[in-house]
Amino acid sequence: MQVVKSAQEMRAAAARLNEPGKSVGFVPTMGALHEGHLSLVRKCRQENDFCVVSIFVNPMQFNDKSDLKNYPRDLQRDLGLLEKEKVDFVFAPTEKEIYPHGTNADVKPPAVAETLEGKFRPGHFAGVCAVVKRLFEIVSPGKAYFGHKDYQQFLVVKEMVRAHSLPVTVVVCPTVREKDGLALSSRNARLDARERKAATVLFRALNAGKEKILAGEKSPAEVEGFAKGFFGKEPLAKPEYFAVRDAKDLSELKEIRGGAVLLCACRIGKTRLIDNLAVSVPA
Ligand code: AMP
Repeated sequence: MQVVKSAQEMRAAAARLNEPGKSVGFVPTMGALHEGHLSLVRKCRQENDFCVVSIFVNPMQFNDKSDLKNYPRDLQRDLGLLEKEKVDFVFAPTEKEIYPHGTNADVKPPAVAETLEGKFRPGHFAGVCAVVKRLFEIVSPGKAYFGHKDYQQFLVVKEMVRAHSLPVTVVVCPTVREKDGLALSSRNARLDARERKAATVLFRALNAGKEKILAGEKSPAEVEGFAKGFFGKEPLAKPEYFAVRDAKDLSELKEIRGGAVLLCACRIGKTRLIDNLAVSVPA
């Protein structure tokens, strides 16, 4: 496994990997790796001749300065995990390598970025689009792997790739969870024991909402109201949103039919967590 810090070196290495008949898969991450990230890496390994993983805590996508400062970082541990997964290249650049001309929001996020996370984290998806586009230009992957855990991010990236005709296939991978349903997240490390217990409220509310839909409930407002009750019973939880949306583009639904997704964001103490579940109802 080679660890590359310079964009120029990574670009040159990627050009060598991308010889005719060979495929390069790519997993962008912010490090503090867990089994969720590693599931993406394994899928990437299976489907490509070469696997490149990036580790870059992208300052541009943090609308909250203290979240950026407290974001967990442990490059040596991450490199050990990636070595075991037989990753070919780890791209771990500095900010200057990614943004040599400063952090300009020069990639306009698509419409799907405007709702939910886009409302609660102004500028977040402009940062995501800027870094992903830059990373794609450097690594030139044929396929890039993203988690369902950040479902809106997946839709934003997919739409950005389409709008800019980038030659990358965006692949979405299932959310990896703890036994009690909590979605793995680098931010979970910041929860104390009481908060960790309370954090299951996201999955409990999503799952109860999904069950209600599968039992025949068609009204998004009914499901949203029902699920919000779960947060009301959890003193450590401060919910930001809970919504049932069209799985294609996160537009609001009059009636739940076809592919839908339940999404929520909630603060547990100082830590902001998000999660979602897909549900499919006969149209
Ligand atoms: P991050 O390091 O949080 O930016 O995440 C890097 C990638 O890993 C993103 O595509 C995430 O959606 C994905 N990811 C994060 N947590 C999980 C999880 N629990 N299961 C599957 N994928 C995940």
